[in-house]
Amino acid sequence: MNLRATEEEAQLRAEVRAFLADECPAPESLPHGLDERMAFLREWQRRCYEAGYVGRAWPAEFGGGGRPPVEQVIVDEELAAAGAPEFPNIVGLDVIGPSLLTFGDDEQRHRYIPEILSAQEIWCQGFSEPEAGSDLASLRTRAEEREDHFVLTGQKTWNSWGQYARWCGVLARTEGPETRHRGISFLVVDMESPGVEVRPVTQITGHAEFCELFLEEVAVPKANLLGERGWGWKIALHTLAHERGTAALPRQVKLRTWVDRLAADGRERTSGGRPILDHEDAQVAVARAYINVEVLRHHAARTVGRFLNGQPVGPESSTVKLVMAEAEQRVTKAALDVLGETLESPQAGMERANDLWHEDYLFSRTATVLGGTEQIQRNIIADRILRLPQE
Ligand SMILES: Cc1cc2nc3c(=O)[nH]c(=O)nc-3n(C[C@H](O)[C@H](O)[C@H](O)COP(=O)(O)OP(=O)(O)OC[C@H]3O[C@@H](n4cnc5c(N)ncnc54)[C@H](O)[C@@H]3O)c2cc1C
Repeated sequence: MNLRATEEEAQLRAEVRAFLADECPAPESLPHGLDERMAFLREWQRRCYEAGYVGRAWPAEFGGGGRPPVEQVIVDEELAAAGAPEFPNIVGLDVIGPSLLTFGDDEQRHRYIPEILSAQEIWCQGFSEPEAGSDLASLRTRAEEREDHFVLTGQKTWNSWGQYARWCGVLARTEGPETRHRGISFLVVDMESPGVEVRPVTQITGHAEFCELFLEEVAVPKANLLGERGWGWKIALHTLAHERGTAALPRQVKLRTWVDRLAADGRERTSGGRPILDHEDAQVAVARAYINVEVLRHHAARTVGRFLNGQPVGPESSTVKLVMAEAEQRVTKAALDVLGETLESPQAGMERANDLWHEDYLFSRTATVLGGTEQIQRNIIADRILRLPQE
């Protein structure tokens, strides 16, 4: 992959940088309460979309920018480098949106894609169930076909942003349980339908970013079936490959800014009468964190290279997911180890920074679970990349 920028790409990078210098919200301006934070972030995504920086490579006929994928990579890198807050419609943009583009018909794409890009409608993902997480093919939510609709009954769990979502991409069983993954279909469920109940679950961070979802005889029009009946597994694999793989390049840039922030905090704060970063163990911890992020950068470049060349993002995305989760956890753990003392007794003017490190650390615990656990990624790598024997 040629990473040298063309003149046009360099110009885009400069434009995005100038936009962010004027518009990017400072971390301390992010409201703490979840409702206010969500409203703030929707407005932020809308402004970026209007500037042409969201869905830049998605087809223009559905509201995207119609530009080459490399331009979205440049935009994402600049957003991450500026420390910009993540877009709230992350499930729509990074998880379900690519599957709607690939498997949806034109009517579905016209209906859903522009609203995803502008954050007018938030999406959530209804895959996991209380008894079906890693072993997703054992899911029990049922969709029974009637004349012009399906009747959906079951329970989903861990639906990120479910309480704000207008739409949910639900995997449901349309054939008997013995069919395992062959009998699953993908339905687009209107969260305002009768029979849908959402119960937020509070996480260790104190925020309720995900929910339980109860579905009681929900009528879902047949027009909301994505692809064909029985294509759910195929669509889920496509969805998960995107969730695991293509977000890594901007994530790596963001983690790099975290390591820089950690080094800056380490220089600013003192321990034993001298800057923390003068201590050798702190230097080693920061260096290790830096190396983890560098390793991620190289893995991410390979996956994104495939994406830019129009190749499918396959099981290799599991390697990226694994390395990304480890890097995220090691950087935030290093922050607590290095700054530990100063975090316990905040120094003047640093309260917000302390909050962010704690929140980042606590949230990073989820990195080895969401989108498939680290053990499952290792299984996929062993089975589908290394082709190791089962035993
Ligand atoms: C922050 C967050 C957001 C999420 N958002 C969503 C969402 O929006 N939508 C959604 O559908 N889901 C979401 N999830 C759910 C996530 O996909 C599941 O938690 C994950 O797939 C694991 O499933 P489980 O929690 O049921 O754990 P289990 O599958 O019960 O696993 C428990 C433990 O057993 C291990 N294990 C299980 N099977 C094997 C095996 N075959 N080999 C080795 N080890 C194994 C696992 O690695 C894990 O350590 C989210 C999770 C988190 C943490």
